[in-house]
Amino acid sequence: MSLKVYLAGKLVDKDDAKISVYDHGLLYGDGVFEGMRIYGGRVFRLQEHLDRLWDSAKAICLTIPMTPEEMTAAVNETVAANKIQEGYIRLLVTRGAGSLGLDPNRTSNPQVVVIADRIQLYPQELYENGLHIITASTIRNHPAALSPRVKSLNYLNNILAKLEGLQAGCVEALMLNHKGEVAECTGDNIFLVRDGIVFTPPTDAGILEGITRQTVIELAEQSGRRVVQEAMTRHDVYIADECFLTGSAAEVIPVVKVDSRTIGDGKPGPVTKDLLDRFHRLTRQA
Ligand code: PMP
Repeated sequence: MSLKVYLAGKLVDKDDAKISVYDHGLLYGDGVFEGMRIYGGRVFRLQEHLDRLWDSAKAICLTIPMTPEEMTAAVNETVAANKIQEGYIRLLVTRGAGSLGLDPNRTSNPQVVVIADRIQLYPQELYENGLHIITASTIRNHPAALSPRVKSLNYLNNILAKLEGLQAGCVEALMLNHKGEVAECTGDNIFLVRDGIVFTPPTDAGILEGITRQTVIELAEQSGRRVVQEAMTRHDVYIADECFLTGSAAEVIPVVKVDSRTIGDGKPGPVTKDLLDRFHRLTRQA
């Protein structure tokens, strides 16, 4: 059975899911999106993702042409139509088709697209042994240029850093902000553990406020751990006892080497493993 994609208010076959080449989402990356997980046939933290989508849209003066309730129905309908139990959703809203100029006022019909598909996970081996990452020389977008809090269709900043990682043989890369502080990875947030305390960069370090990041902060606090959101440098990463990344696609994944420095003893640490376990219990429960 061909996958069904939600487009222009209805479900269409994947091969028929097409939008105009004049859409500013394509011409300029002018639009916003979300990536969400489906566990046991249900969308994880859907409300939080929709809140972030609406915030991103507001920041770029884009009016989403439906209510959050209608969007919830569209997402759930797409998941159900494709009978996906464990999977991934890509939800996007484009500026719509317009003229070839930048002017968003000369566009019409923002397009809402919902794709529900199987998920391509990192190999299990990486969850057991941890990732090696490098620091990219490409810094995260300056918040005064395009706030990293906006999850926009323009991901070139992250793609350039991802390319650096791939060229160095790494599936993820660390990005610093314009002040040289640690921000996040190309598609994941970063956490450190030192002396039992969990650290992660604050929002004003220039990060996307990850839904998985928030979930992990809650899980860590529920388990009685202190979580500190403060600016950190690469030095803090190098001397951490543990390091891990979080994201809707990656979930919680350990990092054991950064820029050739071994983190801790080079194996995923106990706090990371515990949080990974708690995350699995939360998402795999009925
Ligand atoms: N940072 C960036 C740049 C991302 O693209 C993502 C993935 N959407 C994340 C962090 C993690 O966010 P979330 O946990 O909401 O998927």
